Amino acid sequence: MKFLITLYKYLRFWGGPYKCIVCSRRIRIFFPLSTSLQQKAKSNGFPYDFKRMETLNYEMCNCPFCLSSDRERLYLIFLDKYLADNSRQYSILDFAPNAAFSKAIKAYGHRYTSTDLFRTDVDIQLDVCDMKEIENETFDLIVCSHVLEHVPDPDKGMREIHRIMRPTGKAIIMVPLFWDVESTTEDKRHNTDELRLRHYGQDDHVRLFARTDFLKRLHLAGFDVAQIKPHELDREKIRENAIADNSILYICSKSS
Ligand SMILES: [Zn+2]
Repeated sequence: MKFLITLYKYLRFWGGPYKCIVCSRRIRIFFPLSTSLQQKAKSNGFPYDFKRMETLNYEMCNCPFCLSSDRERLYLIFLDKYLADNSRQYSILDFAPNAAFSKAIKAYGHRYTSTDLFRTDVDIQLDVCDMKEIENETFDLIVCSHVLEHVPDPDKGMREIHRIMRPTGKAIIMVPLFWDVESTTEDKRHNTDELRLRHYGQDDHVRLFARTDFLKRLHLAGFDVAQIKPHELDREKIRENAIADNSILYICSKSS
């Protein structure tokens, strides 16, 4: 069965104008954003439109082969300039990793550690809000994508990431952001799946960040935040990976 699905995928999607940086396959088209995710949110009264979400190519989101999202492909386009440098060893920490993304980073040959609070298919289980197992200034590159909207104390999480990052390190810290959200929503009374879907758009989220508040919190945690737009990166790779113009990468470094 698995063979037949793979064969179907090759016949239907392989070859074409795009090239997924995560799995290196040439492909005809990426999958659009999952409709079930949106319908679940919408039917519970979530008022925001997923077409107005930052760093999302709504029509061309997931790779049909490795299922990487456009944001993960964007991270790898950015990270490639560091990881392709074989003159030094980078120490990398990746939160809640996608399997294909993880494999792609490992292939560069640096020191890579995957982590998650609950999953067992990672190198180490860590709570981003309290990483007591990790010494100060351990990692050069940290990827914390779509994690802080799930955790009880995101400010503590940001401070912890700051603590374990080396002084010259960089962290990609991203959360779901909708352009129309003007202030962060977070309320402990939203304590059922239905209420979380209505207010945050997903039943395992515990807040919905507004962009300005998210940036303010990163600054308060001690970060300088560079906002990298797609046109500042390798243009051909951006095109091949269907990265939307609305994308913004938040690259955090330690404030001097
Ligand atoms: Zn792929």
